[in-house]
Amino acid sequence: MANIRFHLGEAIPLEMHKVRTVQRLDLVPIERRLEAIEEAGNNTFLLFNKDIYLDMLTDSGVNAMSDQQIASMMTADDSYAGSATFTRLKDKLVEILGKEHFLPAHQGRAAENLLARYYVEEGMFVPMNYHFTTTKAHVMVNGGTVLELYKPEALNPVSDDPFKGDMDTDALTALIEKEGADKIAFIRIEAGTNLIGGQPVSLANYEAVSKIARSNGIPFVVDASLLADNLHFIKTREEACKDMSIREITKRIADLSDLIYFSARKLGHVRGGGIVTDNEEVFKGLLSMLPLYEGFSTYGGMSVREMEAMAVGLEETMDEHMINQGPIFIEYMVNELVKLGIPVITPPGGLGAHLDAMAFLSHVPKEQYRAGALGSALYIASGVRGMERGTISEERNPDGTDHIAAVELLRLALPRRVFTLSQVKYTVDRIAWLYENRELIGGLEFYEEPEILRFFFGKLKPTSDWQQKLAAKFREDFGDSL
Ligand SMILES: *Cc1c(COP(=O)(O)O)cnc(C)c1O
Repeated sequence: MANIRFHLGEAIPLEMHKVRTVQRLDLVPIERRLEAIEEAGNNTFLLFNKDIYLDMLTDSGVNAMSDQQIASMMTADDSYAGSATFTRLKDKLVEILGKEHFLPAHQGRAAENLLARYYVEEGMFVPMNYHFTTTKAHVMVNGGTVLELYKPEALNPVSDDPFKGDMDTDALTALIEKEGADKIAFIRIEAGTNLIGGQPVSLANYEAVSKIARSNGIPFVVDASLLADNLHFIKTREEACKDMSIREITKRIADLSDLIYFSARKLGHVRGGGIVTDNEEVFKGLLSMLPLYEGFSTYGGMSVREMEAMAVGLEETMDEHMINQGPIFIEYMVNELVKLGIPVITPPGGLGAHLDAMAFLSHVPKEQYRAGALGSALYIASGVRGMERGTISEERNPDGTDHIAAVELLRLALPRRVFTLSQVKYTVDRIAWLYENRELIGGLEFYEEPEILRFFFGKLKPTSDWQQKLAAKFREDFGDSL
């Protein structure tokens, strides 16, 4: 944390902002939570906000905006083509990333759609440090294959490796030798690996990957959706970078890459996305598709208000006391859980705290969806909504059996600057209770299962009456408490 020490010993994450607008929350009683999770088919995506106390599903489109961002929305220049807002946003991106061309898109996956259509052909490979759900789907739809070249430590839940998101560069070199550079559509590094716990990539790794890409003439693409957290970790964990400014680190990453795309639902705290590149030919190729899928080149499916606020949000992202807010709260939460002996992914990453459901519910059979069951149990015990990132989020094997995920995580996202320390402490308190009573938690089974991306709309039921027993124990221990 930035240079603030405490007299009483205990270090606490400190907000460098104050709250000036609030939204009322309700915590419904456990009897209602039992009903709500049943109505939602034990799928937290299908819960309604009115039944949720703390929404830790995601950081997408729900980070708090600053007063300056909201004020800027009133100055947005509405026009279909050539709006001054577009010019301001583009100038800000050029200033920060130093790349000449900007293609706006309505969100991150829309940028992925354009990239996959442009670069990927039947039979091509896209090596990456780790996949993201929508990225993989777009590469596959265009006939390509995603190869994940992470290092073994990436999937180790208990680790002190500061950069578990690094790509295995030996594996990358071997792949290029085996398949040939022309079979590789592009190399993708995801800043802050979403699906393995928001684990960062070191600047040294960006440099090594860039060198390999350039010497083989392969485009090097950075998914910068979670870049803000990654910048914080490079600055605080990488010895060689501790004297660099956030602006310098950002510019260095941009210089190493050929193209950067991002979801502005995360980066910049608005709702939108985009692509930047300095390659004229790539720009023209992408530009020809933009009006078909997104909108004219000066809005790309976004509202100009969001674009105006994005320019301000990107500038604010260059402030180390702004971008540390997510990571220091997550670090606090993870460290508290570790102190209590609760299985959680370490070291703390960006995006959120990730409970290790494989270990938390080791008594539940793997086929009964440990991370999903933990998500239901936590909601019942606390009104906190997390997101299953485990076997339910995988597709079935071709023979119809479940593909058991390598990691079973319950992600508790901490949208940036949204929750207070008390709310984090409440969540830790309820997780601790749940851990002490984990033997009461049982498994889940599908009763409605969509064929693809089943985690969004699938419905499950408990394999026994464990949820009633858990609620009864809650009443026994907590009386009439909410
Ligand atoms: C969220 C996310 C995306 C997709 O962005 P959307 O705006 O949700 O479409 C792509 N990559 C990463 C790493 C993400 O976290």
